[in-house]
Amino acid sequence: MKNLKLAGARPGGARSVIEVAGVRIGEGLVVIAGPCSVESEEQTLRTAVAVKEAGAAMLRGGAFKPRTSPYAFQGLGLKGLKILDKARRETGLPIVTEVIDTRDVSWVGEYADILQIGARNMQNFSLLREAGKSGKPILLKRGMHSTLEEWLNCAEYILAEGNDKVILCERGIRTFETYTRNTLDLSMIPAVRATSHLPILVDPSHGTGILGMIGPMSLAAVAAGVDGLEIEVHIDPASAQSDKDQQLDPAAFARLMDRLRRMRAFMDELGDEGTK
Ligand code: PEP
Ligand code: MN
Repeated sequence: MKNLKLAGARPGGARSVIEVAGVRIGEGLVVIAGPCSVESEEQTLRTAVAVKEAGAAMLRGGAFKPRTSPYAFQGLGLKGLKILDKARRETGLPIVTEVIDTRDVSWVGEYADILQIGARNMQNFSLLREAGKSGKPILLKRGMHSTLEEWLNCAEYILAEGNDKVILCERGIRTFETYTRNTLDLSMIPAVRATSHLPILVDPSHGTGILGMIGPMSLAAVAAGVDGLEIEVHIDPASAQSDKDQQLDPAAFARLMDRLRRMRAFMDELGDEGTK
């Protein structure tokens, strides 16, 4: 691909490992789990403890929510970040949280271990530049209407600011299919591995929007060579203030983690011929 001076594949296919608070992304399988939104201290802390117990390496949770409707829950903002900070202190899990505004990058970065740039902001070039300048690890989700080349060029914006800590996340694209929330494009796993050195994660929660599909798609992503998963988990999904139909409860998440570990071990045994 043209113009990918920094995001493109490296000679010999060397892939980047991005270390965040002791977690190495790009090596093994890193699972980031937690609620769609931070709603309260109790909900976040209880979810954090549960996902840690099940083996998640990082906690996710939105304090700033990009919502389709301006009247929908927009997130707790600073209060939400403080709750995430408390959850990190209590569990030791590093925090992944979204930033949606250029003006917030530096102060949200004081709470986050990884700043997430969501699908709706993938091509917000000023936000990408600001994220690059922050020097924080950035989780860049694929825009719902974006090609691989457009996505990698957005990673290039961050890298071009001197920030080499970029992690990609496939979260589904909009197609003519309406049964699923999005069409999760698992072909992006080998595609990214062929065209870029950056780690690639998959978000099966937003990628399908359907509870029963999160397990199968996660296992398929591991079979395809994914570096990690971002999965929505809520202590009580039925009461969630956003995305309640796609959040696993802790018991379902723990069962999935067990299957993921076994799938990953099987893939290690098989070798990853064909995914590189
Ligand atoms: C999220 O992960 O909270 C989110 C809003 O995802 P996306 O940007 O992929 O829709
Ligand atoms: Mn969500």
